[in-house]
Amino acid sequence: MTEPETIAAQTVGRIDPSVGALIPPIHPSTTFERAPDNSFPEGRIYSRPDNPTYAAAAQTLNALEGGAETLLFSSGMAAATAVFLALDPGDHVIAPKVMYWALRGWLADFATRWGLRVDFVDLADATALEAAARPGETRLVWVETPANPMWTISDIAAAAAIAHRAGARLAVDSTAASPVLTRPLSLGADLVVHSATKYLNGHSDVVAGAVVAARRDEFWDRIRMISARNGAVLGPFEAWLLQRGLRTLFLRVRAQSRSAQELAERLATHEAVSEVFYPCLPAFRGHDVAQRQMHGGYGGMLSIRVRGGAAAAIATAAQVKIWKRATSLGGVESLIEHRASVEGPGTPVPDDLLRLSTGIESTSDLFEDLARALDSATTGSAESVSVAAP
Ligand SMILES: *Cc1c(COP(=O)(O)O)cnc(C)c1O
Repeated sequence: MTEPETIAAQTVGRIDPSVGALIPPIHPSTTFERAPDNSFPEGRIYSRPDNPTYAAAAQTLNALEGGAETLLFSSGMAAATAVFLALDPGDHVIAPKVMYWALRGWLADFATRWGLRVDFVDLADATALEAAARPGETRLVWVETPANPMWTISDIAAAAAIAHRAGARLAVDSTAASPVLTRPLSLGADLVVHSATKYLNGHSDVVAGAVVAARRDEFWDRIRMISARNGAVLGPFEAWLLQRGLRTLFLRVRAQSRSAQELAERLATHEAVSEVFYPCLPAFRGHDVAQRQMHGGYGGMLSIRVRGGAAAAIATAAQVKIWKRATSLGGVESLIEHRASVEGPGTPVPDDLLRLSTGIESTSDLFEDLARALDSATTGSAESVSVAAP
């Protein structure tokens, strides 16, 4: 079994040998029996370090990413922060200027107080990374590509080469691409991180995260220990839902990518839209790199800037009927969000930007709904909408 579609659809071909079931069981047990000879014959002791329900989703993702081992976490943030916590206080790390907002906040606040020295760099530009890397001092380069919420593209192979020359590891937050479109380990990354809450599960009903390692080494042992000891582990029911979501990953992501591409192309010529952020568009910065490192599509995420400013953007979101006004991404239902309202003061995101997570609904329904809202927001009473953050 080698083709990724087959691996995902059949959960790596697993059949439960005890009953012949095609669908894996859920093991709610928190504890496992010790044998009379004092050993643990199955290798499991307690559910915080390991639960057998994790295996289906973890092995599927591991095979899709081409990793040596995959660990599931209770959220994408728990997965991402485990990687940083495996470093030592005093270590230098490089992260993108524009990235998933909550993680950027954690790095600027908690990680910095804990002793990491964090530089935020424009990682769409490999020469800026080269200039920021400190040989012998930088321990981790963190890349998110495409990056929230402007879908900035970083060149993974170039970043891996620069990181490795400096003696650092490269971790890639591949949440937006998913293993359907990009396989960072094959491009030289050392770790891949996912918010499995998004495309991997795909149904907006599980909060989960994952870290995939290219190899088992001493750094990976530290991440494993953080998972087991800090205890930000996934519940068995959530792990089971995640494996079910993964079975349709390829169908969903490909449909979402096709739809997002059509929306991006049509919105690019809409008079109420001043800019479209989507890696497929030839004018998009990073388009060439995206074309090289993404396969079979550019993902379901795009953002637009609305002519008329923040009030017009918020008024557009207020008037859609099919798109749902909500945060998060990667589910089968389409979501729209005024990003600056979520990120608050200090955000680098333009205040007229709407982030769009394309679901699997009819593309023409989605386009017409949005076009109608844009028309009425930019010609109607947009001035009366207030721009207060929640
Ligand atoms: C959502 C998200 C996270 C955080 O994941 P949670 O599951 O919400 O904790 C990290 N990175 C990216 C790119 C995300 O979209």
